[in-house]
Amino acid sequence: MSLGLRSEVVQSSGRTLIAIADDASTLPAHFFSQLDDVEKVINISSRYPLVLSTGDKQGMTAAGLKFGGERPVVIAGPCSVESTEQVMEVAHAVKKAGACALRGGAFKPRTSPYDFCGLGFDALKILAEARRETGLPIVSEVMSASQIELGFDYIDILQIGARNMYNYELLREAGRTKKPVLLKRAMSATIDEFLQAAEYVLLEGNEQVILCERGIRTFETKTRNTLDLNAAALLKRMTNLPIIVDPSHGTGRSELVQPLAQAAIACGADGLMIETHCHPAKSFSDAEQAITPEELSHIIDRVRAIARILRSDDQIGSCTVSGAQPAFAS
Ligand code: PEP
Ligand code: MN
Repeated sequence: MSLGLRSEVVQSSGRTLIAIADDASTLPAHFFSQLDDVEKVINISSRYPLVLSTGDKQGMTAAGLKFGGERPVVIAGPCSVESTEQVMEVAHAVKKAGACALRGGAFKPRTSPYDFCGLGFDALKILAEARRETGLPIVSEVMSASQIELGFDYIDILQIGARNMYNYELLREAGRTKKPVLLKRAMSATIDEFLQAAEYVLLEGNEQVILCERGIRTFETKTRNTLDLNAAALLKRMTNLPIIVDPSHGTGRSELVQPLAQAAIACGADGLMIETHCHPAKSFSDAEQAITPEELSHIIDRVRAIARILRSDDQIGSCTVSGAQPAFAS
């Protein structure tokens, strides 16, 4: 079999190295490892070429949301859809606070099957009603191909949650829909694994992938997870896909949502996903991390101010008018 690849042969310390000069990153590694006399195959090219090449620096628009624009994109709403009244009240409140999309779980992945697992299809209908009333696009999680089908007309951005980041059939199926996909990093995933999961969606021809850092599991027990802002800053340098940060699951503590939201925008994230409830203590799920719409409004004001400072700083940094002194120069 000929693959038509160019190669170079290098003799080194009694071993023969064959370097493939063309991009073979999308070919299965076993094509090479099963050839006679091949001892080892080392991949030095990227395992996620589409992640590295998709999108452009100017940002991306998905479901009417402009990521990478002047303002951070804030997606807010309850952890779970609980009732029509709850969703309508919070949808209007988060819109007033400045959020540009409504989140709410219809199908909830819960660690225990005895916990509230969501209202399912009824929740989707409630979300669609909130969309009709407020005009906010809907972000909601799907855990299976059948839920993608059920949610197709009701959800504008399909969320694939941390527990399903490794569900490769689901990733492919979400890719085939061509709907925007918000992919959350699994709590134990390396950045490489996270980006390979995104590659599955992109490989189906769906370029609208939004990456979400939501905290990883560490030895720390005072917070629910450890929000990995290293990852947010690094991902911004690796890919042009939008990066958002979820300080709610990232900390698990309502009082930490504001400081970590600010830090996320300060380190370059394009947006935030924040769990918001009009009566946080009464939330059916994740009550400890829920904030009120008033607190959300304050956070949005603060992160917009941070984004403005960073933007003007960038403009000053790129200012080349001779003799002009940057306003903030010391
Ligand atoms: C959620 O967004 O409600 C959720 C379950 O998040 P994660 O998948 O990050 O745990
Ligand atoms: Mn939650």
